[in-house]
Amino acid sequence: MAPKTLHPDSLAVHAGREDLASLGVHALPLDLSSTNPLPDLELGGMSYEVLATGGHPFEGGSNVYARLWNPTVARFEEALARLEHAEEAVAFSSGMAAVTAVLLALTHESGRRHVVGVRPLYGGTDHLLASGLLGVETTFCTPEGVNAALRADTALVVLETPANPTLELVDIAAVAAAAGDVPVLVDNTFATPVLQHPLDLGAALSLHSATKYLGGHGDVVGGVVACDARLASALRRTRAITGAIMHPLAAYLLHRGLATLPVRVRAQQESASLVAEWLRTRPEVARVHFPGFTESDPRGLVGTQQAGPGAMIAIELAGGFDAAAALTGAVELFTHAVSLGSVDSLIQHPAALTHRPVASDAKPSDALVRLSIGLEDADDLIADLAQALDVSAFARQRAASTTG
Ligand SMILES: *Cc1c(COP(=O)(O)O)cnc(C)c1O
Repeated sequence: MAPKTLHPDSLAVHAGREDLASLGVHALPLDLSSTNPLPDLELGGMSYEVLATGGHPFEGGSNVYARLWNPTVARFEEALARLEHAEEAVAFSSGMAAVTAVLLALTHESGRRHVVGVRPLYGGTDHLLASGLLGVETTFCTPEGVNAALRADTALVVLETPANPTLELVDIAAVAAAAGDVPVLVDNTFATPVLQHPLDLGAALSLHSATKYLGGHGDVVGGVVACDARLASALRRTRAITGAIMHPLAAYLLHRGLATLPVRVRAQQESASLVAEWLRTRPEVARVHFPGFTESDPRGLVGTQQAGPGAMIAIELAGGFDAAAALTGAVELFTHAVSLGSVDSLIQHPAALTHRPVASDAKPSDALVRLSIGLEDADDLIADLAQALDVSAFARQRAASTTG
């Protein structure tokens, strides 16, 4: 097989599995060892040195200890790197552990302490950057404000597209050009490598909360960063020192899930387009944010930067917070829960939940509800939203008549 010539769907099925037949197995091996036998003291010591400083295991050496290296995790990393058009990838225990490792590695390496955060960002990322917890000082800005926000001591620019929760699209190539020599981290969680390749557009690092679409089944927490070999080595060193490696069972489930990622994303995206179109016809919904609509994508980035609109929708309820709260309580087929990208559809209120820690001047609207469209039949999802919007409108009318 010549892997480089494979189309993305074939890569998703085969990447990181090329040696399985020669091992005499068909499914991915799962290695749960916490420690590994050492060939002898000298080779064991050399292996420790190489792995703790971010290198790869060598022939005749040992994996030493599972905080330093795990073959199941390495297989998933190899597959994800191929899908992201990256030299390497490094997997972490969660998306936030991945963001933390990038901040630690890049500020330490450059001796710089300043980061530019392009808002809106996921609430947890915004919280970490604003907290100063890692000794990082952050300037938040709009995509157009990146150049003005740069300082001589800027180590990193962080952006997310589509951005959480309003699904605004940020022009990755434009931000990378504005950032100049400063590396750009793109959170690619919402788009997935099925729709978007940030490294091809000038980003230095592409990050995922693997908990979301990569996992896709709501049963894994993980994070992964795709980048060049030099940055990957710095990230592995940070991971070895701070202990944030992904668990091998999580890597196994994620690698297994990669095979269906392109099919899942395309099917979910198709349903999301139908649901978003329908939501636009409803008087209870004041505004629908969906990258497939021109008004949500004024720069025309869907079809160029991003191969499709994705499967996330955000709506603003005409009835404000009360209507939004009633809607999240009235759905029956959707699950009222944070997170996204699962095979089942989820609904949540960002201002109260995922974006709760965000500063009040940057918080999403109280009327905004975020939908993650799953693999159910779109007609069933629409029927559920229709009954839930009726319930929420009725509740508001009743509240209005008792108070008025
Ligand atoms: C969930 C999420 C994260 C954080 O990932 P965890 O796996 O929850 O730590 C980061 N970025 C985005 C866009 C997310 O949706």
